[in-house]
Amino acid sequence: MARWGRRAVLVGAGALAGGWAARAWGPSLPSRAGTVPLGDADGALVLNDASGLSPTPVASHTVLVEDAGPLLRNKLLNEIEDAAAAGQPVAVGAARHSMGGHALPPGGRAVTFDNGFVEPRQAAGTFVAHAGARWSQVIAALDPLGWSPKVMQSNNDFGVAATFCVNAHGWPAPHGPMGATVRSVRMVTAAGEWVTCSREENADLFAMTMGGYGLTGLITDLEVEMVPNRRLVPDFADVDGADLGAALAAAVRAEGVEMAYGRLDVTRARFFDRGLVIAYRPDADQDALPPAPGSRWMSHVSRHIFRAQTGNETVKRLRWAVEAGIGPFAGGGAVTRNALINEPVATLDDRDPGRTDILHEYFVPVEAFGVFVAACRAVIPASYQELLNVTLRYVDTDAESWLSYAPGPRIAAVMLFSQEMTRRAEADMARMTRALIDRVLDLGGSYYLPYRPHATQAQFVRAYPRAPEFAARKREIDPDLRFRNRFWHDYLEAL
Ligand SMILES: Cc1cc2nc3c(=O)[nH]c(=O)nc-3n(C[C@H](O)[C@H](O)[C@H](O)COP(=O)(O)OP(=O)(O)OC[C@H]3O[C@@H](n4cnc5c(N)ncnc54)[C@H](O)[C@@H]3O)c2cc1C
Repeated sequence: MARWGRRAVLVGAGALAGGWAARAWGPSLPSRAGTVPLGDADGALVLNDASGLSPTPVASHTVLVEDAGPLLRNKLLNEIEDAAAAGQPVAVGAARHSMGGHALPPGGRAVTFDNGFVEPRQAAGTFVAHAGARWSQVIAALDPLGWSPKVMQSNNDFGVAATFCVNAHGWPAPHGPMGATVRSVRMVTAAGEWVTCSREENADLFAMTMGGYGLTGLITDLEVEMVPNRRLVPDFADVDGADLGAALAAAVRAEGVEMAYGRLDVTRARFFDRGLVIAYRPDADQDALPPAPGSRWMSHVSRHIFRAQTGNETVKRLRWAVEAGIGPFAGGGAVTRNALINEPVATLDDRDPGRTDILHEYFVPVEAFGVFVAACRAVIPASYQELLNVTLRYVDTDAESWLSYAPGPRIAAVMLFSQEMTRRAEADMARMTRALIDRVLDLGGSYYLPYRPHATQAQFVRAYPRAPEFAARKREIDPDLRFRNRFWHDYLEAL
């Protein structure tokens, strides 16, 4: 059984926002401070998320460091009872890297889980994590034993329970979202019961909670599958942009591939013309695996080029040349699976107080990828937004979660934009996001929910057809709507 050091209260949670300083955006506009509480003009407690664009006044903010046990359950029951007495909502968060206030209860009781206990169960091929454990703590527990998370995001800052609640995915292949690797969760319900949910026990609640954005209960701990850590070597293939979806799908299905992703050229002159597929297979040498470093040197070198791309087409061209030309040689050596995923968000952090990083993600049927590329060419360069990066992953079918974004195999296109912190840029981003979502829905795809809430209500229901059923069942199991966040108010409340 391993126990890993906990972050200091609040300092840890704030540090996960990458040391972002408060930034001015107008008198009543947000400052960017992760979960660090701020006072607004009236002295109210205001929390924010990673976008810096979701300032939300809350009644209280409690950081819980207790292990998943009776003490933690009692503290959660107290939160629920106090909230009920005051007629307030409750929402739990971990790193609050979702970008639309998904972990923020307007006027309510915000709870941050900072309990990082991880217990590997090698005989079962699983680990048990307390809800606030971050992936960096999971890797720290598994790596010395030769194990690795089966599916997680591309960065290690996020909470494990939060990952289940957004049903995140990553680039380990050929898997579906992370929820598929979760055996069971324990959670405190709105009725005050501490229940276990799995595919065998409370199966509906399990499937609703997977990708249910914390609206069904407060998770205390969960059991998740792991796989052997291995030394991997990459293969690089340069393909036409429109063919990249099919090439990535073929790569992940190829013999022995354990990790794979794609990249697209984002220079304006050759927008999405060329693509790269990078696929990792086990090395012949699996002896004496080195410990996973917290961040690889290549990532730090790349940061300078990555950030210099903002408003600079020459640097974008240079970056693509490096990635497509030199990358296969410079970064092409053997590396362990854990080293590849043990990367903090802060490595690529934007240190410009006038801008914020905004992610988009679209899930596209493999056969429609060429149409998607054409849609992006029509929509993105016509906006004022600065697209710095597109990474592609393969996501296998998720037929379990009620709010599934992958009803069939999908190519996930993750886009990282650098957005000005101005009202004009926000309005332009909202318009462009809606235009892209329309195109993606037309080709049978979907968009990812943890990012900015720019989709219309109609787009949301079209992308997530079980949303009305989710909202109706939520009202049955939580009739006082005790668990609410901005995602509920933005999209589900009206259904
Ligand atoms: C730089 C960056 C890279 C990313 N990369 C990826 C990626 O590769 N793949 C991917 O799929 N996603 C990715 N994401 C999205 C990310 O997975 C989500 O934003 C996720 O929510 C982040 O985890 P968190 O700890 O910040 O969650 P939070 O924002 O704190 O919470 C997310 C949701 O989970 C709920 N929740 C959290 N803990 C609990 C609990 N104990 N009980 C009940 N509900 C809970 C919250 O209420 C909220 O609704 C990325 C985001 C960023 C900013």
